[in-house]
Amino acid sequence: MSSLFLRTLRDDPADAEVPSHKLLVRAGYVRRVAPGVYSWLPLGLRVLRRVENVVREEMNRIGAQEISLPALLPREPYEVTGRWSEYGDALFRLKDRKGADMLLGPTHEELFAQLIKSEYTSYKDLPVTLYQIQTKYRDEERPRAGILRGREFVMKDSYSFDLDEGGSKASYDAHREAYQKIFARLGVRYVIVAATSGAMGGSASEEFLAESEVGEDTYVRCLESGYAANVEAVVTPAPPARPIEGLAEAVVYDTGSTPTIPTLVDWANAALDRTVTAADTLKNILVKVTHADGATEIVGIGLPGDREVDLKRLEASFEPSSVALLDDADFAANAFLVKGYIGPKALLANEVRYLVDPRVVDGTAWITGADEQGKHVVDLVAGRDFVADGTIEAAQVRDGDLSPDGRGPLVSARGIEIGHIFQLGRKYTDAFEVDVLGENGKPVRLIQGSYGVGVSRLVAVIAEQTHDEKGLAWPREVAPFGVQIVVANGKDAAAAAAGEQLATALDSAGAEVLLDDRKASPGVKFKDSELLGVPTTVVIGRSFSNGVVEVRDRITGDVAEIALDEVVGHLIGERA
Ligand code: ATP
Ligand code: MG
Repeated sequence: MSSLFLRTLRDDPADAEVPSHKLLVRAGYVRRVAPGVYSWLPLGLRVLRRVENVVREEMNRIGAQEISLPALLPREPYEVTGRWSEYGDALFRLKDRKGADMLLGPTHEELFAQLIKSEYTSYKDLPVTLYQIQTKYRDEERPRAGILRGREFVMKDSYSFDLDEGGSKASYDAHREAYQKIFARLGVRYVIVAATSGAMGGSASEEFLAESEVGEDTYVRCLESGYAANVEAVVTPAPPARPIEGLAEAVVYDTGSTPTIPTLVDWANAALDRTVTAADTLKNILVKVTHADGATEIVGIGLPGDREVDLKRLEASFEPSSVALLDDADFAANAFLVKGYIGPKALLANEVRYLVDPRVVDGTAWITGADEQGKHVVDLVAGRDFVADGTIEAAQVRDGDLSPDGRGPLVSARGIEIGHIFQLGRKYTDAFEVDVLGENGKPVRLIQGSYGVGVSRLVAVIAEQTHDEKGLAWPREVAPFGVQIVVANGKDAAAAAAGEQLATALDSAGAEVLLDDRKASPGVKFKDSELLGVPTTVVIGRSFSNGVVEVRDRITGDVAEIALDEVVGHLIGERA
């Protein structure tokens, strides 16, 4: 450590909010260069490489072959699939000196599809799975929490190519199992949840979410059935339609100043001969949708008044188009939108696409805006007084909501996405016409799968799940070193020599050893050792004169006194 390129910090970095970020910076694992762009220093790089290797071993085990594609890419392949524009502002675009458009790869479906097309011609070559562990670039809107959400990050991405659905499913299942092994070896607590496929396109997909309160993803589970999904992917169970016959006529009322749901509910309970809750009102939200070709469209969204819009669910529903709430200028430009009193009628009359929550089924009666200042309509019946253009998943999912499989209530928790597996189908192979000659002599269009693991993100995730108030506490599988030897009194020549000898002996026995031979005070050394999080610390301290050292376990906190000459046997026994 006297020569290690390492400076630990006593104070948390000012820009850090989550523990892993604070600790990885304080312990000298990473350093920030720009928002979402980090350097890996020696200890950090060692952990990153070890995570990478676990991923590599498990990918190799399922027969995937490692290759490495460039991160600097031409525009054309992404133009072919539409992702040059669909990816939006998250894509790093640049021009070369000749003015040609290029990009920094955010993910490589296009390139792998092209590669297979250029190399393979026969069904005999299939199936095949290729992967890389490579730096990716995404100009994230909110780079966050250090390496947890970077703009430059390391991802393992693999791509399978199969002749038929059965083969594609088998490749998907093989990845699913490999991921379970990877995350088990890394000691990560995680759940597998149903996911949306987002900008990737395709059909089935699942996410691996590490359990963490600082996660940006919310997932729900039904404990009765085992159903688990990212909230973005939850499909609201629609109640059955009800008979319209016999329902009261819709009546417009003067409701005074009632621009919000609570004020409307208060009015209704005072003025109507029934008990009304927010769930009886239909709230209409307006959004501006920007499509990949740049065209924009105003869309109205109707949902029960007791539910907020969940922006991530809303965004997922419009992917790959982007969506924003309507601003004042948009309202001003569309006089038929009476803020606070918007109803389905004006939207439909003005050809605004109107999408409703799946709970708004035919025969449900609502209190909603009447499109005039201070007016609402009561008993506006879906399927009789208005017909929406479709349904949309945009409302928040709440704890206690019925699971989509109908078998029990949902409970929510937060997580960090560490892996994502997709059955892409033929989206990309169609775009590039990736065919091989089939067994019967006819061309077969291949089916592609795409699978990602957030390798650099995992370093932060593991730190997040294992740290304590004193610092990092790495699982052995990924620790930067297996053993740290702390010579408490660096000025004691005999102790220093014993430290050196022990380090050499452990090293020869196959352990990776970090020797704290600095002249610093014991207090500083102990603090640093806890901060760095090496799983085993050997302290050459007070009892050294009696030939005894202390062996501390960073994870369990156990301390054992062991004779110096038995340390190697003791530690190698536990695979230090
Ligand atoms: P997120 O929803 O967190 O933005 P994503 O769904 O866009 O992620 P994928 O395209 O599925 O990500 O990428 C595969 C994996 O790469 C993710 O599961 C995640 O672990 C990792 N990853 C994605 N974006 C980042 C990032 N900005 N920084 C670090 N890792 C990332
Ligand atoms: Mg994903």
